[in-house]
Amino acid sequence: MAARGASLTIAAMNTLTSSCAAPSGEGATPPLPCIAVLATGGTIAGAAADATNTSGYQAGVVGVEQLLSVVPALSTVARIAPEQIASVDSKDMTMPLWTTLVQRINTLLATDGIDGVVVTHGTDTLEETAYLLHLTVKSDKPVVLTAAMRPASALSADGPLNLLNAVTVAAHAGSRGQGVLVAFNNKLHSARDVVKTSTYAVDAFQSPEIGALGWVQDGRVEFQRAVVRPHTLATEFVIGPKWPHVEIVASYAGVSRIAVDALVAAGVRGIVVAGTGNGSIHVSMQQALADAASQGVAVVRSSRVGSGHVMRNGAAADDALGFVSAGSLNPYKARVLLMLALAAGGTGPVALQKTFDTY
Ligand code: ASP
Repeated sequence: MAARGASLTIAAMNTLTSSCAAPSGEGATPPLPCIAVLATGGTIAGAAADATNTSGYQAGVVGVEQLLSVVPALSTVARIAPEQIASVDSKDMTMPLWTTLVQRINTLLATDGIDGVVVTHGTDTLEETAYLLHLTVKSDKPVVLTAAMRPASALSADGPLNLLNAVTVAAHAGSRGQGVLVAFNNKLHSARDVVKTSTYAVDAFQSPEIGALGWVQDGRVEFQRAVVRPHTLATEFVIGPKWPHVEIVASYAGVSRIAVDALVAAGVRGIVVAGTGNGSIHVSMQQALADAASQGVAVVRSSRVGSGHVMRNGAAADDALGFVSAGSLNPYKARVLLMLALAAGGTGPVALQKTFDTY
């Protein structure tokens, strides 16, 4: 499942004119919302040689127009402005592509005629991209990500209904101001909370700590709780051309300090630890991380467990070692926030802890 194709350059995208056809004729009813559908690849755009193959397919080979063409019901929900941003397997997501995506979404949402954005994406890194957008999109218009666990060519492909539901959510007035959303398998998740929890199940996305935000079914959208932490317009984060180098290490039985020392020697600005339990770290690795922190590398403790909070480790212990707690962010989302915080000039464990406690 190799990545296919490259993302468009910013220059090329600036020549795109995303817009929806206006209704024609006198007395035309008010137009449906105009939703830009930005395709990036993934299994939702995947194809295999036969319809029963749901594992040996190529991701990101079906174009956005074709994805839309198999969902005629879209025309009853919204007017669609499609764009092919990239054609990648999301396991191969890159930071330059993230920059392109954020900039394009911000440009589109600043346009009067665009009412919302849907991003089609691979499932593998969807939770990272979603959280990045949640922190860097500068608009309260809806942004909804969706994906699929079965390729477009499969029997009972889940992509078409997920796409219809995502556009339905993006076109729904109540989705405004909720931050970036993920519509998947009839559930509606906040970008901050959602994670992929199954390698193969169609119900592959959950918000393990506090549950889904709501649901979408048969054209009906319902929110059951609100997003409390700041996002989109309320953050200080902007995408710049440079991404601070932040990597992830894991703690486990018998782990050595080799990986941490190598990363410090390579010049990383930050390290996120996928710790055991409450973000606890093997004594050998902990010493290496304390040494890293004393040299100015940001060290963030998260957990490999999959749900729950990482509490500050007896404040004194974290203070003494110079570590920051990721709270309820998993290691991959903690890395996104740490990169943005460092890019925004955040330094030192006290300021960084405040950032993690806020977002
Ligand atoms: N590897 C694929 C991707 O992330 C899997 C998927 O889309 O579900 O693009």
